[in-house]
Amino acid sequence: MSWPLKRKAQALLAAEEGAIRKDWGGRVAIALVYPNTYRVGMSNLGFQTIYRHLNAVNDVVCERVFLPEPADLDELRRTQTAPFSLESQRPLTDFHMIGFSVTYEGDYVNVLRILDLAGVPLRAAERRAHDPLVLMGGVCAFSNPEPIAPFMDFIVVGEGEEVGAELMTVYRAHHGDREALLDGLVAVDGVYVPERHEVGYAEDGAIAEVRPRDGAPAVVRKRRLRDVNAFRTIAAVKTPNAEYGHMALVEVGKGCGRGCRFCLEGQVYRPVRHRSTEALRETIEALAREGERRIGLVGACVSDYPWIGELLKIVEASGMELSTSSLRADSLTEDLAAALARGGHRTLTIAPEAGTERLRRAIRKAITDDQILAACDLVRAHGIPNLKTYFMIGQPTETDEDVAAIPALARRMLERLRVPDGQGRPFGRLTLSVSSFVPKPWTPFQWAPFAGAPALSRKLETIKRGVGALPSVRVLHENPREAALQALLARGDRRVADVLEHAVRLDGDWRRALREWTGDAAFYTTRSRPLDERLPWDHFDVGVKRAGLEREWARAHEPDPVVAGAA
Ligand code: SF4
Repeated sequence: MSWPLKRKAQALLAAEEGAIRKDWGGRVAIALVYPNTYRVGMSNLGFQTIYRHLNAVNDVVCERVFLPEPADLDELRRTQTAPFSLESQRPLTDFHMIGFSVTYEGDYVNVLRILDLAGVPLRAAERRAHDPLVLMGGVCAFSNPEPIAPFMDFIVVGEGEEVGAELMTVYRAHHGDREALLDGLVAVDGVYVPERHEVGYAEDGAIAEVRPRDGAPAVVRKRRLRDVNAFRTIAAVKTPNAEYGHMALVEVGKGCGRGCRFCLEGQVYRPVRHRSTEALRETIEALAREGERRIGLVGACVSDYPWIGELLKIVEASGMELSTSSLRADSLTEDLAAALARGGHRTLTIAPEAGTERLRRAIRKAITDDQILAACDLVRAHGIPNLKTYFMIGQPTETDEDVAAIPALARRMLERLRVPDGQGRPFGRLTLSVSSFVPKPWTPFQWAPFAGAPALSRKLETIKRGVGALPSVRVLHENPREAALQALLARGDRRVADVLEHAVRLDGDWRRALREWTGDAAFYTTRSRPLDERLPWDHFDVGVKRAGLEREWARAHEPDPVVAGAA
């Protein structure tokens, strides 16, 4: 055991409020792992929620584990210390189960690195009777878990709030007998046991069939929380060492009914379920009584919450300051902007996604330029000093004009945001956060080709050149090569698992792993997929109808009604 790392863990714990300590005696011990650093993991509300729900099960003790910071990895190796939990500082292999909460495909390599550091065999088929069971949940589990499936004993597909107690019943009844345990697990709704599904491939490389065996269902149906009011989704642990650690995060609901054609969350969390204002009032008042000073409302789209006016009054009456995640420019109200300004909000975030109204209509994010500019007016009127905007490049039907329109729109926004000299607090900064479009399963764009890193780099250059001379504007973006990896993992099948495994052998160097891989990355990324091809995630049912996706895919390519009408 490394003492510096142990002391570091103790310091993190000491700075927290709300960590749960339970006695291990006779309980099933679960290591809940976020495959990224403490700072990132502790900002994730889903991770925090599962931590609370698992610990609420009487015979479970759940402790958190994170990917060590890069500087700590060397120390871990030097002292031959296995990754350990925060609460009791026990190594991963002491636990009965290791559960990964995975939100981003880019963290798959980290999942395997953590298993490797712990000395747990990577592939489920190679594990021995005394190894912990390895499982995974989180949005990646019900998007397309296939690239990581060979490393998992089982996967919880869907919203996990209710499933913990059922898993414990099966575990208690059958642990020690792997086959009996897997028999029990495949019978639990929403549990996927990859080794009970065999994948066959056709000559052209596509999937020919997926054969379930030994009691596994042909189609694994997503677990869905029926009554969102039955469970409070709030951060269990507060810490100054996480991005949102200084505020109490509260989820206002699940899902979004807008149907933007690129958006995974908008599809897989359907149907839309809003928490009632009464349930939220109870939560908010309880938080205020506990002494919370700041509340962060979380949801796919907080400004779309149907009773937002009433909710704002509840927050105001509680005396807490308000914060939120990204807002829709077309549902941002005067009241909401005012409440955020009162709460000391220094940056408001909206997501136009595209530079032109035509492309916004094609991706079904039909916000008009006027609505975006009206949002700028609200920002200026309420003295909020910064505006952050999300754009995405490489989307289907995008042209050079659409890309060039992004800096042009930024110029118009800046004109509306500027506060004339002497008329109030000057505007601070307009941020363009530009991401690369990665086609996601279960969306109407699941058949679309990924644009490729070189094309995306050119588009980024256009934007950077376009804003070059604008004062107070900055462009943030990821490396398009990282988007290319994400594109491979988002729509890959089990053969892609080899890249992940190789990357671990190369100490996380996925670029080299990709170069040395004998598979064809373009087959998964830049290729247009025919509508009749079997997709790697076709043996799941997440409640999204394929006919609806096909219809939306076709509509995205229809002539634009506004442009056609004007001609
Ligand atoms: S991008 Fe936002 S508004 Fe559109 S479907 Fe997704 S969550 Fe809803």
